[in-house]
Amino acid sequence: MQEFIEVIRGTVEIVETALEVTNVIQEVHNFLQETVLGGKTPPDQQLIFDPMTSELVVQRKNERPSNPDAVVADNIAKEGFFGETSFVYMHEDQISTIYQRWKVSQINQVPAVAFGFDEGEVFHVYTSQPKAHFAGIPVTSIIQFLPQFGNNDEVLNVVNEIVNTRLYQHGKPSYNVIVLFTIEEDKLQHRVFIKQPDGSLNEGIVKFIPERSELYSRSQGLLETSLLEDSKVGIVGLGSGGSSVAIELAKAGIGNFVLIDFDRVELGNVARHTCGTGDLGRYKTKAVRDLLYGKNPYLQVETAEIDINTNLEQTKLLLKDCDLIIAATDNNRSRFNLNSIALEYEITTIFGRALTRACGGDILRVRPFAGPCLACVFTKDFLESRQEEVSQFRQAREDNPAYVPDNEVKATVQVGLSSDILPISNMIVKLALVELSRGKDSGIKSLEEDLIADFYIWANRRDNTYESWPKMEYGSKTPSVLRWYGAKWERNLSCAVCGERQDTINGDDSFFG
Ligand SMILES: [Zn+2]
Repeated sequence: MQEFIEVIRGTVEIVETALEVTNVIQEVHNFLQETVLGGKTPPDQQLIFDPMTSELVVQRKNERPSNPDAVVADNIAKEGFFGETSFVYMHEDQISTIYQRWKVSQINQVPAVAFGFDEGEVFHVYTSQPKAHFAGIPVTSIIQFLPQFGNNDEVLNVVNEIVNTRLYQHGKPSYNVIVLFTIEEDKLQHRVFIKQPDGSLNEGIVKFIPERSELYSRSQGLLETSLLEDSKVGIVGLGSGGSSVAIELAKAGIGNFVLIDFDRVELGNVARHTCGTGDLGRYKTKAVRDLLYGKNPYLQVETAEIDINTNLEQTKLLLKDCDLIIAATDNNRSRFNLNSIALEYEITTIFGRALTRACGGDILRVRPFAGPCLACVFTKDFLESRQEEVSQFRQAREDNPAYVPDNEVKATVQVGLSSDILPISNMIVKLALVELSRGKDSGIKSLEEDLIADFYIWANRRDNTYESWPKMEYGSKTPSVLRWYGAKWERNLSCAVCGERQDTINGDDSFFG
């Protein structure tokens, strides 16, 4: 019954809203009729567009719009509503910093840089160096704090004075962004003007990029982002697999990262990698870090451009307080080193790799001493039966003896498609999220019961390792491509790497027994 009443209430609200909207539409319609047919705007009225509600309302000219972001839509007939309107994005935390400075020291003019996109449609204004990867045309911007705005003419005088004194251009004409702030009724009010290349001024709409607390509010409920915000994940190897795992974990709300890789973004990687040609030559660690900041500027990201095989002690220091390690490197030596670190610090570590030409892949989750370690699984026989993808010259060179010439080594590099790597990355992400939210009341809790296996295999195509598999067709009871298989893999109690610990535990047991 209660539910029924709720439904009725909801329906009544919808009908009421619809009636309100109909009235507004009628009012706007009348206004447009007068403007277009009569050829001029009614002298005491104007059309206001509220970007928050996406509503058009007719208002008297001296009336203050309820939303300070609302703009006068006065070019409707000519250009459409946004014909000459620009959107100007600013980071709330940066504005808050300069506002505090203005309050204390009355520094009322702040130089800024704006990046312009799409012929002046969108600008991003920064008062300090952007952490995220950025693009666009850099243009000079000025932020001005005023004691009050005054009337429209007074505001335009201020803007014109800034244009004439501060933004005088020696070179070719370009855009400039002038942002005005004041405090009215205890609230920060803002207006933004864009000086066009031809010297004219247009008013734009300010949009704020919120501070930390609001950034992830949308995904709350699916994942307890406040829980994951404190989690720290170490990712070793930032090729196409590791980098896409990093991005997904940042999107899921993980707050702290350690990124380790010594490779740089090269032309040959770009097609498969999350980074693009704009990152060529950069360390993958730093380029990926900037992509992560683009998802969440409040992340803590530590990077290390080291080969873990020759810097083991430094690697340990970097990883020892991580909640989880992702091992996405492309060689077994580094995997065994990470396995040792996992066992030494008892950190759950997920190993992922692609097989020859990415025909498929496998994932091993190492929960130290609670399941198999890498050495329990990656035996000589196993490695021969499931050979990995060789996607880089460096990796191929390491795999071959020194007497094999470079051109022959090069011929062994056979890369798979990015779309063949992504399913493996995606499963790594799921396993990582399950591990990080284990025992917590998260939206993916039921997956804990599904993902009980420590070893998973995936086939992209019936090639190489999977050549003998039956076709998928309509079957669901035979092994097939494009499905995950969790395999039961017991811990090897005489494992050369993790077996010893079993003795210790036994010893303790008998001691207490
Ligand atoms: Zn083991």
